[in-house]
Amino acid sequence: MVLSSVLGFPRIGAHREIKKAVEAYWAGKLSIEDLNKAATEVKKASWTSLQKHKVDLIPSGDFSLYDHVLDHSAAFNVIPKRYIGLGLSPLDVYFAMGRGRQAEGVDVPACEMKKWFDSNYHYVVPELSEQTEFKLLYNKALQEYTEAKAIGITTRPVILGPISYLVLGKAAKEASANFQPISLLPKILPIYKQLLAQLKEAGVESVQVDEPILVLDKAAELDKQYATAFAELSPVAPKIMLTTYFARLDSNIKFIAKLPIAGLHIDLCRAPGQLDDVLNEIKSTKIILSLGVVSGRNIWKCDFAAAIKQGQKAIDALGADRVIVATSSSLLHTPKLTPQQKDWFSFALEKATEVATLAAILSGSQDPAIATAREKNATSIAKRREFEHTSDDAVRKRVDSITPDMYHRKSPFSTRKEVQAKKLQLPAFPTTTIGSFPQTKEIRTARAKLGKGEITEAEYEDFIKQEIELVVRFQEKVGLDLLVHGEAERNDMVQYFGEQLNGFVFTQNAWVQSYGSRYVRPPIIVSDVSRSGPMTVRWSSYAQSITKKPMKGMLTGPVTILNWSFPRDDVSRKLQSQQLALALRDEVIDLEKASINAIQVDEPAIREGLPLRRSDWDEYLEWAVDTFKLATAGVSDATQTHSHFCYSDFDDIFSSIQRLDADVISIEFSKSDMKLLHTFKQYGYSNQIGPGVYDIHSPRVPSEQEITDRLKASLEIIPARLMFVNPDCGLKTRGWKETEASLANLVAAARKARGSA
Ligand code: GLN
Ligand code: ZN
Repeated sequence: MVLSSVLGFPRIGAHREIKKAVEAYWAGKLSIEDLNKAATEVKKASWTSLQKHKVDLIPSGDFSLYDHVLDHSAAFNVIPKRYIGLGLSPLDVYFAMGRGRQAEGVDVPACEMKKWFDSNYHYVVPELSEQTEFKLLYNKALQEYTEAKAIGITTRPVILGPISYLVLGKAAKEASANFQPISLLPKILPIYKQLLAQLKEAGVESVQVDEPILVLDKAAELDKQYATAFAELSPVAPKIMLTTYFARLDSNIKFIAKLPIAGLHIDLCRAPGQLDDVLNEIKSTKIILSLGVVSGRNIWKCDFAAAIKQGQKAIDALGADRVIVATSSSLLHTPKLTPQQKDWFSFALEKATEVATLAAILSGSQDPAIATAREKNATSIAKRREFEHTSDDAVRKRVDSITPDMYHRKSPFSTRKEVQAKKLQLPAFPTTTIGSFPQTKEIRTARAKLGKGEITEAEYEDFIKQEIELVVRFQEKVGLDLLVHGEAERNDMVQYFGEQLNGFVFTQNAWVQSYGSRYVRPPIIVSDVSRSGPMTVRWSSYAQSITKKPMKGMLTGPVTILNWSFPRDDVSRKLQSQQLALALRDEVIDLEKASINAIQVDEPAIREGLPLRRSDWDEYLEWAVDTFKLATAGVSDATQTHSHFCYSDFDDIFSSIQRLDADVISIEFSKSDMKLLHTFKQYGYSNQIGPGVYDIHSPRVPSEQEITDRLKASLEIIPARLMFVNPDCGLKTRGWKETEASLANLVAAARKARGSA
């Protein structure tokens, strides 16, 4: 019989219970006991509903109050020294690592966060060194397994495998110069052995061991480590289901097929082409194959016909007992269903039903309900295809008539810089921010009221204008040079644009975790994209009208809108990005016409959209950079274009960053070192840069001295004439108090730099 499986489930709870509970705990309004109670309720509800939806293999251990990688670090005693001895409870140490802590005499920044493969989920990076002393402080997978067992549900615990855990980590400050995290494998294996042996002892039949790095090029050199690790682990462990996702295994399947594992999971949504290869390699083994045919990364209904074809192929090669149908990855990245949602989509719980139904079909079920489900699926898929093919001809024609000159500014940067200097009159070390200011409760309440019809459009507009005025006056008072309007009108930097563009639809409650207690509601692209009218011009020009200082317009770039939405799967990402770029190009030109002389087009997601396999990079980077240029190059030399990136790994995509040809870019505060800036120097980056001078992801206030030190260090690498001074990201998640204090220090440090440079 073919079994069905779900690899992981959203953690937020049907009504955002976890987000609310965690934030209440941070605010001192909820006790540890009540926080744990909320967590238990949400876990129970997930297990119960997966069981109700007839999923055979239900995950446990995948829940998290902040991040699952951080869960592993905390349980393995991988706690950087700066969090020890502060008198904090283990839970507070855990949260301090995730988000920093500045209260009651304790002042520690957060650990570094990185994007989880090519998703918008962020994990907390483990810090490792020769001194790391792994210990198994507790066994979270076992605890959750037992919790589920207590309500009568048998689950398959999930853990992150040892090699992925190490490779996803980084060298801690105290590590020696050539330390490689993977060198700790012999030290960490005993911990995994202990963890797995405890699971086995508790009666766990099989365990899901996630090794997502197996889809990366670099895994090819880790074949020996994989062999050693699994040879040691499998004798003491329950049956191991080795799980990979987000891309293809390529040649790595050769060594994977030789590992002593009971099962292997592959992602057939991202990499349908790998099925033949994998079947060939594992045919002669006993390995069970779990087929990831129901997407964990997108919200489109699974096309049963295609999935059944793949399932049948696997059954023909291996026999039904060696086949599982599963979600392609954890459903952490897909939101849960609400009643309003359309027939085309499939959210977390519907995906559970999909795997169960597919398993029944592939097992030869004669149940008439299953037959009906199959017919309904076919009708729905056909209707959607028809809609997609007939959406907007005019938009497609416009894409076809893009000319090469539309991708380039009129003059090179050196010429533009001079014209812009005259126009904007900024001092040396110009200070600016990344766009958003604190999204206060009042702002969210006003937006909610507008949504419910409790206030009129006009009242809302007045409210936003007042907010803009507040932000403008604050920036004038604190002494910033290039102002922003503060983005009070935006619920989210992508959703806001999606709501105004044609071609998008939205969900009410489909939240996806980004990091910690931050969730986003990605819009869904359902058809060709176009702009019906100006989207931001009225806010930016109002802001400019009330100040003499220059105002920076603020847009989200095409690649980021695409990467942070659920894209269509019937046309290429390139085409969708081109359509978005044309819409944004019109907006950029309209802003210029409205006398906005600096325009920022954020592309924080360019890097995360990189394919996981290097051989696919060039093709992506070409259209990604081109579409950014298409969006921004329509303005005159005098208009200063900015772009912003929320990361600092540029080494491997440097030439693409240069090719964007933005007049100014602002980048993340590199927590560990200045490596990033060295990259810019090494490659001779020619345009202006604002290296983030402090980390906004934590409520901590940086001192003036810290910022000065940071500026000094940057100046050794970047010429003063190219420097901007700014925080490392938008301030929307911060409170006003720390924002005021931090920006005052930032301005003071910039002024000092002007005096001494
Ligand atoms: N302009 C956006 C803001 O300030 C940029 C956000 C981001 O980079 N994620 O909020
Ligand atoms: Zn950012």
